[in-house]
Amino acid sequence: MALDIVMLGPPGAGKGTQAARLARLYGLPAISTGDMLREAVQAGSDLGQRVKAVMDRGDLVSDDLMIEIVRERLVRDDTAKGVVLDGFPRTLRQAEALDQMADGRNLVAIEVAVPAEEIIRRLSSRRICRDCAAIADPETLAGGGATCARCGGPLVQRADDREDVVRERLHVYERTVRPMLDYYRARPSFRTVDGRQPPDRVFDAIVEAVERLTAVGQKD
Ligand code: AMP
Repeated sequence: MALDIVMLGPPGAGKGTQAARLARLYGLPAISTGDMLREAVQAGSDLGQRVKAVMDRGDLVSDDLMIEIVRERLVRDDTAKGVVLDGFPRTLRQAEALDQMADGRNLVAIEVAVPAEEIIRRLSSRRICRDCAAIADPETLAGGGATCARCGGPLVQRADDREDVVRERLHVYERTVRPMLDYYRARPSFRTVDGRQPPDRVFDAIVEAVERLTAVGQKD
């Protein structure tokens, strides 16, 4: 049965990095709605023009639009064995829509939990490559490096990683994502892992949670 892994948690919890690693481990596509939207903005497409201002101020794109984008992505052939979702769902409505789309598939939800003060510290010091959008390694930054280790492009701050915008994103998170977390928390297919640990430890904890949840699912 298809295995869909939903990564939950605040912005800056490390969901994107962990989702990409999980996707490689299980041979599934990682679908990041934030990346999809940023690519659309970069390409200057219709979609990009519609969402740029909303994203720049740290607000959420409308549920209808997001549900449509994900619905279109999930009908592609590469999703047959499952997907790792990062950044979607973000509201209760999106979660309900995903349940309909994922009907008959195995869905597990993992929350990577990190306290707000730690998020503000992490995101306001984060830098990404202007050209390829890779996130700069903190050690490169600490060493005073100003170029991307992957492509040599200049490192810049993401518009929505400015401290005031991060605070707004966290505010949005508390208002909209918390109720959705409660929706998942009530299920047996939900686990929380401590996102304050080093990334490798977080990854091990996520894999262990997924393995346990899917083993339970098989017994049912
Ligand atoms: P992320 O990279 O996941 O933090 O997403 C960056 C921005 O994209 C968010 O602050 C939102 O403006 C927008 N976005 C991404 N995913 C969603 C979603 N599922 N619902 C609404 N807005 C989203």
